[in-house]
Amino acid sequence: MDSFSKEKRSQIMSNVKSKNTTPELIVRRLLHRMGYRFRLHRPDLPGKPDIVLPKYKKVIFINGCFWHGHENCKKSQLPKTNREFWQSKIRKNKSRDEKSINKLLEMGWQCLVIWDCQIKKKDIEKLVIILEGFMKGEMDYDNI
Ligand SMILES: [Zn+2]
Repeated sequence: MDSFSKEKRSQIMSNVKSKNTTPELIVRRLLHRMGYRFRLHRPDLPGKPDIVLPKYKKVIFINGCFWHGHENCKKSQLPKTNREFWQSKIRKNKSRDEKSINKLLEMGWQCLVIWDCQIKKKDIEKLVIILEGFMKGEMDYDNI
């Protein structure tokens, strides 16, 4: 499949921008408009991926920057108090995420992690390009 045309991309992005919605809903809506069908939160898969595309054997995680410890991201700065508590908590989350991804990869699933901070209304086009690349197999885990 060729890349989407500019027109198709704008069509995919329309409305998504104006609606007030959660990052996950934005990604779901975009994928849906791109013509992909998916399932949500399959508990039988490691890490319970947010979006599962069984037909393509791909999963997408939408990670909150703070809880999942997005590196070099403003949104993941730790509170000044109880620093050690937060550090250890987030380190645990990160290592759990890593294990889940490794298991999924071993099982033959391709994984994409999208961070909350990447799902900005003004950057929707970038997000469409990331999703496009991933779905067409041009991009794998560690997208950024
Ligand atoms: Zn971030």
